[in-house]
Amino acid sequence: MVRYSEELIDEIRSSNDIVDVISQYVTLKRSGRSFFGLCPFHKEKSPSFSVSPDKQLFHCFGCGAGGNVIHFISKIENVNFIESLQILAERAGITLPTLQNSEDDKKQQLRKKVFEINEKAALFYHQHLYQPSAKPAQEYVKKRKLTNKTLKNFLLGYSGNFNELYVFLKQQGFKDEEILASSLVNKTEDGKMIDRFRKRLMFPICDVRGRVIAFGGRVLDDSKPKYINSPETIVYTKGRHLYGLNVAKNNDLKELIIVEGYMDAISLHQREIPNAVASLGTALTEAQRKIT
Ligand SMILES: [Zn+2]
Repeated sequence: MVRYSEELIDEIRSSNDIVDVISQYVTLKRSGRSFFGLCPFHKEKSPSFSVSPDKQLFHCFGCGAGGNVIHFISKIENVNFIESLQILAERAGITLPTLQNSEDDKKQQLRKKVFEINEKAALFYHQHLYQPSAKPAQEYVKKRKLTNKTLKNFLLGYSGNFNELYVFLKQQGFKDEEILASSLVNKTEDGKMIDRFRKRLMFPICDVRGRVIAFGGRVLDDSKPKYINSPETIVYTKGRHLYGLNVAKNNDLKELIIVEGYMDAISLHQREIPNAVASLGTALTEAQRKIT
C-alpha cells in the first residue's frame, strides 16, 4: 500500500482551492456564502450542487455526493485516492516524494535488480563459453552437435570455478543483498561469497517475456548431481514456467511438444521443431498447463 504523510495530504488539499478546482468542471454561481451549480454526478435541471469555500467541501442535495477537493477529483476523474492526490499535487506545483520506503516499492526495486543480475549473469556465462577455459563445455556442445545459432538462441553458457560471477556482479555495481536475492551466489558460514553454479554448462530459463528468471546447470564430468537449478527467488516460482517457451513463442504455434529436459527441447529446436518446450520437472503443473 502506497502512502503519503498526513502533512503532505493537508498541504495538497490547502493548495487547491475547492472553488477553483470545481469551477474547471462545473459552472458555479455564488449564492450567499456558497456556490451552486448543476451536479456533475447526476442528471438535474436545477442546481442542487453546492460548494462551500469556507469549509472547502462540496455537497449535492440531489444525489448526496460530497467531500473535499481530493474526493471530488477522485470521483470526477474516476481515479483512486493516490492518483487524485498526484493530480492535485501537480496542479499546485508540489513535488511528491518517491515512495521508496514502502515495502511494496522496495520489493519491486529488488525484483528489478534481480532481473538485471540474471540478464548480466546469462551474458557473462555465455561469453565465458567461448573462452579457452570453457573447453569441457565446448567439447560437450560439439558432441551434442549444437550449432552456434542454437547456442546464441538459448544463450547457453559456462560457469566459472569459484566466485567469478560474484566478482563480475560486484564490478557491475550490485550490492551483496541484491546478488544474494538472485541466488546465483551463496554466502558460506565463514562469510565467503561463492557462486552457486561452478564449472557447469548453463541454461538460462526465461519467462514468456524473455526475461531471465532462473538457471539450470549441467555438470560436464561424472560428478553428482548432474543438474542443479536455481531455487525459488523473488522472480522465480517453480512449476510456473516452461523452458524454451520464449523461443517457441517467436513462431506461430498452435501446439507445444512438452519434453522433460533442457537438452531435449534444444535438440528439437535445432531439428526445426520450434514448438518444443521442457517442463523443468517431472510432471506438468496446473500453472504450466494454463500458459500453454
Ligand atoms: Zn448530485
